[in-house]
Amino acid sequence: MAQDKRYAVISAKGAKRVRGGHPWVYRSDVVEESGEAGDSVVVRDVRGATLGTAFYNPKSEIRLRLVSRDSGWIDAEWFRRKVAGAVAHRRTLSIDGDAYRLVHAEGDGLPGLIADKYDRYVVLQIGTAAADGYLEAIVEALDEEVAPAGVLLRGDTAARGREGLSRENRVVSGEVPQEAVVREGGVKLRVDLWGGQKTGSFLDQRENHLLVGGLAHGRTLDVFSYAGGFGLHAARNPSVESVEFVDSSGAALETAKRNAGLNGLRNVTFTRASAFDLLRERSDAGDRYETIILDPPAFAKSRREVKKAGRAYREINLRAMKMLRPGGYLATCSCSFHLSREMFEAALGEAAADAGSTMRVVEWRSQAADHPRLLTVPETGYLKCAILQKA
Ligand code: SAH
Repeated sequence: MAQDKRYAVISAKGAKRVRGGHPWVYRSDVVEESGEAGDSVVVRDVRGATLGTAFYNPKSEIRLRLVSRDSGWIDAEWFRRKVAGAVAHRRTLSIDGDAYRLVHAEGDGLPGLIADKYDRYVVLQIGTAAADGYLEAIVEALDEEVAPAGVLLRGDTAARGREGLSRENRVVSGEVPQEAVVREGGVKLRVDLWGGQKTGSFLDQRENHLLVGGLAHGRTLDVFSYAGGFGLHAARNPSVESVEFVDSSGAALETAKRNAGLNGLRNVTFTRASAFDLLRERSDAGDRYETIILDPPAFAKSRREVKKAGRAYREINLRAMKMLRPGGYLATCSCSFHLSREMFEAALGEAAADAGSTMRVVEWRSQAADHPRLLTVPETGYLKCAILQKA
């Protein structure tokens, strides 16, 4: 494989971005290119200076994803080393649980590769042609590092469509059941490995689940509950009177209900409703709570949707703030990458002003440490979680 013959030349603008520490080069910044989807290519600027080595895909808007700052060789051994390094990092994190992210794509220098461990199983999402081409090496590395009983490739992601990759779910090693039971702190959770959202669970919220579970007290409302991540921890806290789980998905609530049973929790109820309607009705009716959790899906999936999303965040937070009793906590999250922390903070500030509520900032949080964020790659960090307390 005459890899050194494959190269790309990128514009001054693209080169500036790469030199600033960002790995992505868009189609519009590529001046000259060669190779096929999944190749590794040497990237140069227009003056001929080498910028590094990148994954290349002519079918993708993001044409190049830089993986090293030299013209080094990318092969199966490279993938094995990177996966081993990512797994080694997790061993330093003292994670209280057996479900966590082993590889966080660009956050671990492995563009497009997500590997999540659920007890004895690993679920993969692969969104780049290059990582897809080295699937075997990736699975071998995982076998060596964590010896899973089975590895599942979840092919049902939009990223694969954009990269021109096949879309089916398939077992790539061992056996993988429909469901796994995992531990997160003191809570057991059933995870639908084949059909659950993301790779099955919201591992990025693990640390927030634990923290909020500890702060919760009194009447607790877990809105956008999914399988119960926040509310299950809260329900175990003796200071909590009751937890109501709210989600628009019947399947999510069914799992939440089974999870409550699995943990022997009785102080729980489940309501299938649109969060917007429920929050408006409850606040109009004068309902009061000591703890409210808002963890909606990304309201802004693109930059264009940011304004509208800001209004939606303001609306749900306004209702929640109104319903909180003094001393009560609001844990409010946004996983919209396109809505910056500053914009989210502004929406929350407007909500507090409109609600006539004084809200203390207890803590600004982000995603769990097994989802590493890189300083120069903002896309590796998307989750924002404000812990607020009504004064
Ligand atoms: N809090 C969960 C993750 C929430 S994911 C955890 O920590 O594990 C977002 C959830 O919001 C999904 O379960 C989805 O079904 C639900 N959802 C999306 N739109 C909704 C709406 N309008 N009203 C209520 N729930 C909604």
